[in-house]
Amino acid sequence: MPELPEVEIVRLGLAEHAVGRCLAGVEVRHPRSVRRHLAGELDFVGRLAGRQIRAARRRGKYLWLDLGDDEALLAHLGMSGQLRIQPSGATDETHLRVRFVFTDGGPELRFVDQRTFGGLSVQDVVDGVPVPVAHIARDPMDPAFDLDAVVAGLLRRRTDLKRALLDQTLISGIGNIYADEALWRARLHWARPTATLTRAQGRAVLTAATEVMTEALAAGGTSFDALYVNVNGASGYFDRSLAAYGQGGRPCPRCGTAIRRESFMNRSSYTCPRCQPRPRHPHR
Ligand SMILES: [Zn+2]
Repeated sequence: MPELPEVEIVRLGLAEHAVGRCLAGVEVRHPRSVRRHLAGELDFVGRLAGRQIRAARRRGKYLWLDLGDDEALLAHLGMSGQLRIQPSGATDETHLRVRFVFTDGGPELRFVDQRTFGGLSVQDVVDGVPVPVAHIARDPMDPAFDLDAVVAGLLRRRTDLKRALLDQTLISGIGNIYADEALWRARLHWARPTATLTRAQGRAVLTAATEVMTEALAAGGTSFDALYVNVNGASGYFDRSLAAYGQGGRPCPRCGTAIRRESFMNRSSYTCPRCQPRPRHPHR
């Protein structure tokens, strides 16, 4: 799954290469990729032809192109979805699912998705966000993110800390990788009951999440080709900077103790057993 910094890099690429242009036509090459557009494929194509892309926006890992008139083209990238800007005439990708051509005859926008878990749909926009995104909380990189309110919400939860960090209705955009890195930086264990956190600890872990994602964005923002906007499941460019995630058995960069891998929600959690001691009374 792409994480927030990767999605933001795609948004920046779309802002540069798609915003301001008018769609001439849309070719749907796989019906599954528009299944979330409930009115069907013909309606999808008809609603987009002639529209101008006004802005590229994001909340958490959700990305959309603002079409004006309170409508947006919403992209779910799923596991393997990519949005690419390609010169018209460039060879079609094997897994090209939807092609957008523009009235200026310039580069195309392509939705490429090997596993077809992702998809595109035209959605109504209410209060600035597409309806399917309405329940998603602001992410820590949003200028309107309210740290104090989210800390208060975090302390009110009756769950463990990592589960709360991954709860997109409390705070969006933090995936498994950045949750583990933020917990390591704040010296907190993932199983820590949120009700036992101090406000300072709540602030520390959320601030750490913002910092680690900002650093990842800075690292990735320089690595994308101007005409090749894409996102994929890996966050390869940031891997060498990770202190805890994926580092099982390697020394903690702070104290040298071997990082421990544990299962968590069918995935893995990585912690330093010394810097992030397991709580004596984990939430149950
Ligand atoms: Zn350590």
